[in-house]
Amino acid sequence: MSIKNEVVTEIFGSNVFNDAVMRERLPKETYTAVRKAIENREALDFDLATVIANVMKDWAIEKGATHYSHWFQPMTGLTAEKHDSFISPTSDGKIIMDFSGKELCQGEPDASSFPSGGLRATFEARGYTAWDYTSPVFIKADGTNVTLYIPSAFCSYTGLALDKKTPLLRSMDALNKEASRVLAALGDKDFLNVSATLGPEQEYFLIDRSYYERRLDLILTGRTLFGVTPPRGQEMDDHYFGTLQERVASYMHEVNIELWKLGVSAKTQHNEVAPSQYELAPVFSTINVATDHNQLTMEVLQKVAIRHDLVCLLHEKPFAGVNGSGKHVNWSMSTGSGVNLLEPGKTPHDNMIFLLMLCTVIRAVDKYADILRASVATAGNDHRLGANEAPPAIISIFLGDQLTDILEQLAKGSPTSSKQAEELMLGTSAISSFAKDCTDRNRTSPFAFTGNKFEFRMPGSTQSTAGPSFVLNTIVSEVLSEIADELEAAKDPKDRAWAILKRISTEHKHIVFNGDNYTDKWLEEAEKRGLAHHPTTISSLKTITSKQNVELFSKHNVLNSTELHARADILIEAYSMKINIEAKTMLNIAKRQILPVCVEYSSRLGCAVGNITAVGSSAEAQKTMLDRTCGLINELHTNIQNLEKVLAKADDIAGLTEKAEYFQKDVIKEMIDLRTAADELETIVDAELWPLPTYAEMLFLK
Ligand code: ADP
Ligand code: MG
Repeated sequence: MSIKNEVVTEIFGSNVFNDAVMRERLPKETYTAVRKAIENREALDFDLATVIANVMKDWAIEKGATHYSHWFQPMTGLTAEKHDSFISPTSDGKIIMDFSGKELCQGEPDASSFPSGGLRATFEARGYTAWDYTSPVFIKADGTNVTLYIPSAFCSYTGLALDKKTPLLRSMDALNKEASRVLAALGDKDFLNVSATLGPEQEYFLIDRSYYERRLDLILTGRTLFGVTPPRGQEMDDHYFGTLQERVASYMHEVNIELWKLGVSAKTQHNEVAPSQYELAPVFSTINVATDHNQLTMEVLQKVAIRHDLVCLLHEKPFAGVNGSGKHVNWSMSTGSGVNLLEPGKTPHDNMIFLLMLCTVIRAVDKYADILRASVATAGNDHRLGANEAPPAIISIFLGDQLTDILEQLAKGSPTSSKQAEELMLGTSAISSFAKDCTDRNRTSPFAFTGNKFEFRMPGSTQSTAGPSFVLNTIVSEVLSEIADELEAAKDPKDRAWAILKRISTEHKHIVFNGDNYTDKWLEEAEKRGLAHHPTTISSLKTITSKQNVELFSKHNVLNSTELHARADILIEAYSMKINIEAKTMLNIAKRQILPVCVEYSSRLGCAVGNITAVGSSAEAQKTMLDRTCGLINELHTNIQNLEKVLAKADDIAGLTEKAEYFQKDVIKEMIDLRTAADELETIVDAELWPLPTYAEMLFLK
């Protein structure tokens, strides 16, 4: 199925109740009022909502929708939906299709079973969803069922945030407020409505569905819990940016079409480093819309895969021994008129606003490194961070030559020059020379300046971008607020701004590192510099509720102390639950699939030894094989028992953190031992008997 270019422009956003649809269908005054509310982030009048609901319903029904749903993002990190039809019975036994302003603005799902971190008990079920009109409403078809989706926030009866969207929206308000103060203090009064922008790069794996169906570990945990590294991995670098395989290319094409219909600007696609690993990146947009779109992207990637008899694995580490998957969060700040505040221009050394924004981010990331690290702490991501494929769990910033030089100049006084990019010549007349970028890239840095934005490379591939995004927005808001306080009080704000830049570039020099973050030398160096290092999820999550963080999130009305504590509890508990499921899945596979096959194989060897020696021949080789197999079976059996024992004890541990620490230390250790024995057996047992599809099959056969 090929598609004409005109068709792409036509289908893009065709299922979105976007600005164009509103302009065309809403009464003029309603449209103007909605635009104003969205632009100024003001509350929407109830009468307006009634008008909009009606128009929206007609549009949705024309597209085949029978239902609407508030679409929200509970603390599971996934999306949630509860559908209601438009039908409303009439007295004559018929129905009309109805959708009120109230139904558009507010929902009350009995959503008591979502994680709330103790913010409400299950018997207090009332929770509300509320329309976020800054993210467009859309239509989605699942099979033949068509529904109108209303992006919504989700909160408790008492107004506490129970979701990922609410703190993100609140952090956007904080950022707008504090950035506008700084800009106004510097005399830039036209820079209204500052918002963060986000372009998340999504990595994923694709494997054939028939293999997936035979791997209980992939089905239940998203990653392989057993499996030997194949003879060939990613060492040839031949998959990275390699030619797209036909089946995969067709899959990507269909993914793009589905996303374009939803108004998601899917842009870049390519093969990633590991075999069977791929990436999709959209064109960046406002941070909450981009976050909603990333949720849709993950959903579409998985949904379309099934149609191609493939399965899309979003886990951070589906396969040991090859790269895992991340989700680079490209972040910047933009004014309402589209000016990127992190655009350095040709001469960044005299670009005051750029320098101030740059130094703000540097100070924010250094001062609040702990919470930034915690925003990416999950059981899945522990397999990536620090594993020589992803940045270590230490936050540092890559600036590149040009900006590092300017920072050094700033520390000494006023900077006078910006290193300029050179011309690059390839030594052939067939290719004309071109201008290089001012700095090279650094793929090992967790937080890199990449031209006119920062790229936060630690987030994991399954994660909602809301967490890292609201943390970034809030820490930056805090530093902007400090700076605004100073500038507003200063006689000469510009003069004061230079002084602030000098102070920040001196105080926070130690967070800047342009070298290779994957080396042991960097670990030593980072320790010398006194940078925080939280190699595991639990040590990192413990920092969430520090006094500094409680103050930070309360001050900017992003999360109050109760909400923050609840979130920390949810994340810590999720860790224990994840490892518990993995351990139980391992036991299931080891006992019911691997052990029986190994016993069968040893029995065959036993027969062979018996038969051969009975006719008087030597069965020495067979005997050696049998001994080795039996030895490993014993080991496997013991390891199964050991894992069962540690798991049983976990139930007795009361505290959330204590329990999570127990899982991280004691349970994971036994899981590793169990895998080692099973993987060793995989290398000697008859391939015909082995019950699980191998890494080689899953990663290389298409
Ligand atoms: P890379 O070469 O780093 O892999 P990609 O092209 O894959 O880059 O992705 C870069 C991402 O950064 C894209 O999603 C792009 O839209 C996004 N991006 C570019 N400029 C900005 C910006 N100002 N703010 C946020 N994201 C941006
Ligand atoms: Mg990329």
